[in-house]
Amino acid sequence: MIVGIDLGTTNSLIAVWENGASRLIPNTLGEVLTPSCVSVDEDGSILVGRAARERLQTHPDRTAAVFKRYMGSDKSLRLGTREFRPEELSALILRALKEDAEAALGHPITEAIITVPAYFSDAQRKATRAAGQLAGLKVDRLLNEPTAAALAYGIHLRDTETKFLVFDLGGGTFDVSVLDLFEGVMEVRASAGDNMLGGEDFMRCLIDHFFAHNKLPASLKSDHYFMQRLAAQAEAAKRALSEHASASIRLNHNDADYTLDIDESTLERICEGLLRRLRDPVERALRDANLRTAELDNVVLAGGATRMPMVRRLVARMFGRFPACDINPDEVVALGAAVQAGLKMRDAALDEVVMTDVAPYSLGIEVAMELRDSSFSSGHFDPIIERNTPVPVSRVKRYFPVTERQKQLSLNVYQGEARMARDNIKLGCLNITLPGLARDDSGIDVRFTYDVNGLLQVAATIVKTQEAHTLVIEGNPGMLTEAEIAARFIALSELKIHPRDRIEHRTLLASAERLYQQLRGGQREWFGAQILAFEQALETQDKRQIAPVRKQFETLLNDMERDSFAVPYSDPA
Ligand code: AMP
Repeated sequence: MIVGIDLGTTNSLIAVWENGASRLIPNTLGEVLTPSCVSVDEDGSILVGRAARERLQTHPDRTAAVFKRYMGSDKSLRLGTREFRPEELSALILRALKEDAEAALGHPITEAIITVPAYFSDAQRKATRAAGQLAGLKVDRLLNEPTAAALAYGIHLRDTETKFLVFDLGGGTFDVSVLDLFEGVMEVRASAGDNMLGGEDFMRCLIDHFFAHNKLPASLKSDHYFMQRLAAQAEAAKRALSEHASASIRLNHNDADYTLDIDESTLERICEGLLRRLRDPVERALRDANLRTAELDNVVLAGGATRMPMVRRLVARMFGRFPACDINPDEVVALGAAVQAGLKMRDAALDEVVMTDVAPYSLGIEVAMELRDSSFSSGHFDPIIERNTPVPVSRVKRYFPVTERQKQLSLNVYQGEARMARDNIKLGCLNITLPGLARDDSGIDVRFTYDVNGLLQVAATIVKTQEAHTLVIEGNPGMLTEAEIAARFIALSELKIHPRDRIEHRTLLASAERLYQQLRGGQREWFGAQILAFEQALETQDKRQIAPVRKQFETLLNDMERDSFAVPYSDPA
């Protein structure tokens, strides 16, 4: 059984292809969105999902979130006493999704199609593959998120040529892709994006506005506890404004009350800068695809942040039509990944589609440019595969050494768009020994081969001798080797994972701990006693005793949550 997985910055989802349709599989808590958060509990066991997200506030030094941003880098994150690499944290998310889905489906899951932003670099894609392996999954394919969104809308089933744009604004990243479906072939014509722009930035804008409105000193921003509470309320207010005309934030700090009543048009005004930044990648993708907005047949929305009415209005204004948004934008990518799984399993319900994607960055080598006076200017970047070339692709270019009878040559491989090599990202270096002939006889054919999974192979052949050198790219900082993945797989398997079937209780306790920290005095004391009563019920391990206490405790938490959350203060409807 192949599953489709959306390994998101904020949330992750898992879906299957069943009876000719995609279906999301809820986790043990019955929710389809599993927060991409990992926390190490006091007893050293690992918590994944909502229980971990609850601990972001109460145990920030033992909890990690938004680590998708660090995929493909050698950054590690410390949780308690242990260091984790981003691919290990992602693997823990994948493992939780896999185990929950196995419990729901009643059979093992061994293979997965995992989605990645179209803009992910080679290193980020490799790290995602490694995360799959670390979770004990065979990663059948990495699928670009916008391609998945298109599949969910069944665009691959159309029998006329269709050109469309996928506008994907998630928690932390923004991706735009222009896709073209022609004679059963889906092609990503261009992709662009901003991997530092997402729904969270809109929430941060709201926080800044709250500070300005209440004339709070900037120094309060270093008060971790205050900021966590404010962030929770700002997030709730932002979401409320997607459905109601107005919302409010109320926060008590050092015996003073701070409030903000805000309407949707004010939110739009304060987020004007962010809205402007959304335009640029759209224009770049259309330009690269050689299309005008009028030539697009459809615009598809993906990512939770496209629920914001101001974003929908912006899209409608830019394209002169309303975007497709019948499917929940935060579910569309996982549903599409399951469609791809269905295609893969050759389910008769779908026609076979050959998919092509594009190389997200230009890939090339560092060269010296010959000047008019025959001297050289070194350090230039010469692309061999241009950005947005459909993949798989193989391109070859011939180069000559700089000096006569040169004996050594270093081929430095880079990715990026900058003119000078140093301003791009270095992927690796291939050192070649030359036969030391005259310059004209020393041609070298450099072949770059980029496959559908975004993996790059570099082959250099000395034309005269036909001697070939292949580059094993080791330049990606801290990229895990197969042997390291195997070793880390064992180490991860030895970690104590909090049992998924008991995570429900652990999640309630984590929420309770967070709420407890918000109370003071008598209320705090009283609530502490409630937590203790719940803990004592759990200790009995008797389901009949636990059930009523749990229900009561859950109701209490929900009531408290509602009180502290932003609620609309007026609704014109
Ligand atoms: P994703 O990475 O696709 O799960 O997107 C998560 C982002 O979507 C977060 O920044 C959320 O704040 C945002 N989001 C989810 N639901 C809503 C909503 N109803 N209104 C506004 N933003 C939302």
